[in-house]
Amino acid sequence: MTELVVTDLTFGYGDDPVLSGVSFTLDRPELVCVIGPNGVGKTTLVKCLNKLLKPNAGSVTLDGEDVLGMRLMDLARKMAYVPNRMDQVFRTTVAETVLMGRFPFAQWANSDRDLDVADRAMGALHIQAISDRDVSELSSGQLQKVLIARGLAQEPRVLILDEPTSNLDVRHQMEVMGFLRDYARGNGIIVLMVCHDLNLTAAYADRVIMVSDGGIYADGSAWDVMTESNIREVYGVDSKVIDAGGRPHVILFAGGGE
Ligand code: ADP
Repeated sequence: MTELVVTDLTFGYGDDPVLSGVSFTLDRPELVCVIGPNGVGKTTLVKCLNKLLKPNAGSVTLDGEDVLGMRLMDLARKMAYVPNRMDQVFRTTVAETVLMGRFPFAQWANSDRDLDVADRAMGALHIQAISDRDVSELSSGQLQKVLIARGLAQEPRVLILDEPTSNLDVRHQMEVMGFLRDYARGNGIIVLMVCHDLNLTAAYADRVIMVSDGGIYADGSAWDVMTESNIREVYGVDSKVIDAGGRPHVILFAGGGE
C-alpha cells in the first residue's frame, strides 16, 4: 500500500504563514476529505503535497521518497492532481484532454492500452457521449468530470482533487462522491479531496481532516470530526448533528436570533 507522509509542513506566500506544523499520514485505500472555512489553506495544502508549491519547512514523502526531490514525470506516475478548474487557451476535445492523463506513461505515440485506460476513465464518469466535444464548449459541471477522468487516466496511487464537485448538481455530486469512495477502496488507492460541503463529506468520507487557522484542528472518522462543538469552533455556526442512516448529517442553524 502506498504511503503519503506529511511532517511538520509549513508554508506561507509571503511573510505570513498560511500553514504551520501540519502532519498526517495517509496509508489506507480510502476517501479522505479536507474541510475547513474559506481561506484556511486547504488548496495551499494539497498544492504542497504534489510539488505545485514548495513548503518553507517540513517534508512530504511518497513511499519514503521526498516529493520535492522527485522528477515531475515520476511523481505524475504515482500522484494525480485534479484542479478545481482548467485555465486553458488551446482547443482540445474531451477525449484528447482525458488522454493527456496518459502523458507520464506515453512513448512517441499513445498505445492501445493508453487509449483503453482513457476510454474506461470516460466511462467511469459517464462522459463518452461528449468525447468529441471541445472542452471550451462544456458546462462547468461537465468540465469538472473531464478533469476527474483525466486524473483517473493517470492510474495514480494517490488521487488529489480540489473541490471536484463544486460545479455539479446534487445528484451528480452524490454520484461522484460515491464513485470516488468506491474507486479508492476497489483499486487500493488513496483519494484525498478538498470538499466545501459538510454533508457530502459527512455522507461519504472514510476520514475527515478539518483545517483551521493554518493547522489541523481535527482528524478522524466523520463521526469523530463533524461534531457540533468542532463545527461551532471552526466555522462559528451552531448546528445539530443527527444520525442519517448510520452517517452523520449536519443541520445548520441560521444565526441572528428568532
Ligand atoms: P482555502 O483553499 O482553504 O480556501 P487557500 O489555500 O486558497 O485557502 O488560501 C489560503 C490563504 O492564502 C488565503 O488567505 C489566500 O488569500 C492566500 N493565498 C492563496 N493563494 C495565494 C497566492 N497565490 N498568493 C498570495 N496569497 C495567496
